[in-house]
Amino acid sequence: MGAGSAVADGFRPEQGRYPGGVAIIEVPQHSQSAPLVTFQGKRLYTQRTPAGDWEAWVGLPLSLQPGDYQVDWAVKAGSLPLRFTVEPKQYREQRLNVDRKHVDLSAENLARYQREKPEILGALDGWRPTQTPLGEQAFVPVMGERSDSFGFRRIFNGEARKPHSGMDIAAPKGMPVYSLLPGRVAAIGDYFFNGKTVILDHGQGLTSLYCHLSSIEDLRIGQTLPGGTPLGEVGATGRVTGPHLHLTVSLNGARVNPALFLPKP
Ligand SMILES: [Zn+2]
Repeated sequence: MGAGSAVADGFRPEQGRYPGGVAIIEVPQHSQSAPLVTFQGKRLYTQRTPAGDWEAWVGLPLSLQPGDYQVDWAVKAGSLPLRFTVEPKQYREQRLNVDRKHVDLSAENLARYQREKPEILGALDGWRPTQTPLGEQAFVPVMGERSDSFGFRRIFNGEARKPHSGMDIAAPKGMPVYSLLPGRVAAIGDYFFNGKTVILDHGQGLTSLYCHLSSIEDLRIGQTLPGGTPLGEVGATGRVTGPHLHLTVSLNGARVNPALFLPKP
């Protein structure tokens, strides 16, 4: 179990202690073996720090209320709380008009969505121990303008829907899309909302999703890819208003701001 000897002299997300952000919590465990650290019952990503302790990355869900929280660190006698505070963050409202079929779902499309949902959530929310370090830094998934629309409270054709769970990067159809970090192919599909999609599992509950693609490379489930591997091309498949890449990053089942993971533009 655990992260083996991954040491934090390489990749690490930027920290943002707000709903939709990432808290990095020091875990004072001096051992080779990874600590068992959880947040709201979910196991966390951990890696060793250069000082020989450990740190845990906590994905903070968009739905989390600001306030005082703790992660639970398992020790011999039971568990110890490591406390931290989540600050408030205001997300803007965004109104979009899309094809009615993507808002008022027909019985057939609703059935399709409900078939696809467990596959997508299973791939995004899985937890897998891994020995693979993430490398020096993340790769830019596509060249293009990054929007700040993560977390926007969205109104589709006048009706409130879930907040925007990722980052949209504007790019023309056909631009190559690359893997953010080393990972394992967890799902490949052509889904109702997301269109052509690849989901990668980077280990320990860190996953990324690339969607609305026009085409997908010849990948197979379970294949391990280095960071910066071509996954497919930008497109406009699924629920979109035009060609772009939608990138979701998830940590311990929480959709977090991809900007915290990308290299600075
Ligand atoms: Zn999007």
